[in-house]
Amino acid sequence: MPFEDVMPGGGKRHSGAMAELTEQLPGVIFQLQRAPDGSMHFPYLAGSGTRLTGIDRRLLAEDARPALARLDDADYPRLMAAIERSARWMTPITTKFRLRLMGGRHSWIAVRAQPRRVDDGVLWHGMMLDISEQVAEEARLRRLSDTDDLTGLANRRKLIDRLDEEISLSNRHATPLSLMMLDLDHFKSINDTWGHLQGDQVLRDLAGLCRRSLREEDLVARLGGEEFALLLPLTPIGPCQTLARRLCERIAAHDFGPGPGRVTVSIGLAEHRIGEARDTLIARADQGLYAAKHGGRNRVMTSD
Ligand code: GH3
Ligand code: MG
Ligand code: MG
Repeated sequence: MPFEDVMPGGGKRHSGAMAELTEQLPGVIFQLQRAPDGSMHFPYLAGSGTRLTGIDRRLLAEDARPALARLDDADYPRLMAAIERSARWMTPITTKFRLRLMGGRHSWIAVRAQPRRVDDGVLWHGMMLDISEQVAEEARLRRLSDTDDLTGLANRRKLIDRLDEEISLSNRHATPLSLMMLDLDHFKSINDTWGHLQGDQVLRDLAGLCRRSLREEDLVARLGGEEFALLLPLTPIGPCQTLARRLCERIAAHDFGPGPGRVTVSIGLAEHRIGEARDTLIARADQGLYAAKHGGRNRVMTSD
């Protein structure tokens, strides 16, 4: 179809072509109007995406609520706040939200809309696009960039992110937070004696032991080499010590298979002090680890 055929103002034939075009768009274009009393409706809705909700457009032309009721509970207040801000400051709406479609499937929808004041409230012209695939791909890439290849544990970057979050919560609510640094004892000789592949298997088995010893909300990370960090939110140093000793014993008692057999670890602990910087907390847990190594290894030491 030549482009000029769908340009507006070209008479009946062209408006028919225009309607055909808008109905085939892989998304939704819309007008949304909000009356001074806050009630909303969609005076105009077009695009193939409009069919995905299964809600009759004539209904939405009167009242936007059946569509708003399909919003994910977690996104509803955020979208309402975005609409409110846009109406107040006449700035565009640029956000995304999850919407329940026909059949119960949830999709991520991106919305862009430009507001304009009209006699009867505010009128937005905008478009919506299903971005579920991009959101899933972003999540996949984020998981990859947060994960240690060898063990499947979180990596150093993820630990730092979580640590910053948990420190900020601990500062705000004065809640306890403990950090463990764990390092394999004499790991170099395991590699030298049994080979690197066996060494890698020990690291994987150790990762599994650590993960199984902690709660869902705790984080186990491999910092690199044969060094691991365990972050325990809402945990004071006392219970953290108990857990660390139990973990230390459990690892020493574990059979790492033909070859390496028994392996031990040293663990350093520190509890976050309100207002303490992340790197200082890590340095204190490291001091504990250093003390455990110098104290003879296969033990737990707490930094004061
Ligand atoms: P210590 O008890 O003092 O911790 O002694 P150590 O031998 O464990 O410590 P050191 O830092 O001297 O050696 C760490 C070794 O860890 C060196 C290297 O061969 C090994 N290593 C580091 N990364 C990996 C890895 O990804 N796979 C394997 N198999 N070995 C690794
Ligand atoms: Mg070591
Ligand atoms: Mg080391």
